[in-house]
Amino acid sequence: MNFYDAHAHLQDAELVPHYPRVFADLAAAGIKRVVTNGSSEADWPAVAALAAAQPIILPSFGLHPWDAGNRSPTWQQALLAHLDATPGAVIGEIGLDRWIVTRAKPDDRRLAGLRRAPIREQLEVFAWQFGVATERNLPAAIHCVDAHGLLLEALRATERPARGFLLHSYGGSAEMAARFAELGAYFSFNANFLDARRARLREVYAAIPADRLLVETDAPSVRPPVAQAPYSLPDTDGAHVNHPANLTATYAALAGLRSVTPEVLAAQLEQNFRRLFGS
Ligand SMILES: [Zn+2]
Repeated sequence: MNFYDAHAHLQDAELVPHYPRVFADLAAAGIKRVVTNGSSEADWPAVAALAAAQPIILPSFGLHPWDAGNRSPTWQQALLAHLDATPGAVIGEIGLDRWIVTRAKPDDRRLAGLRRAPIREQLEVFAWQFGVATERNLPAAIHCVDAHGLLLEALRATERPARGFLLHSYGGSAEMAARFAELGAYFSFNANFLDARRARLREVYAAIPADRLLVETDAPSVRPPVAQAPYSLPDTDGAHVNHPANLTATYAALAGLRSVTPEVLAAQLEQNFRRLFGS
């Protein structure tokens, strides 16, 4: 079987010391492409360099809503320059995150040093990048937390890439998924949803149309529950590091959830991945 990771961050410093092992395991596991998202200006050169070194990498460049508040005055030129200079590049990770401005604790370590851009400012940064995706007909990977209504409104009010876009780790309702699907959305299932407390989201993913489904690791984030994580890497500063080859186990879990064989699911997702991302 062939596997495709629709959303990850393999340029992340947590994975760099483990590259020889990680890339050998990905190849041995049958993983064919890994969409590798740069999410800040500092990330972009690392994604470009990794894509040049490892053909499995499908490079993606974007400014994430968490990083929107710290953008430089030249971020737009830098983004376009990376898109132009990197063969096969797509757009992401971009999006809207109301959680960082309404619910995140002031001392959340993951947000240390980041200015939390208000949602209207995030929307401007998102809309410009989504416009580039539309103009170039590139897929865009969208992160959305606590802002699904606003995102739906924004997507309805604008042109969209003809090939579609990805709602990565989609965590909204089934009703909203149907509305996003009408606009061209794909949805990527993530090991996050294997948690016992996420039964509602497993139901959402059981119902998403088969031709709009993908699977992602978000590695090095979101290590699956231990029983569904055949590959492991040492923790960094007490935090779990997700090995991207755990993708295969998440595929198996999704096949079970949708009552299809792993072979049928893998063949469907291969078609979906190629339709959305080209390659
Ligand atoms: Zn991500």
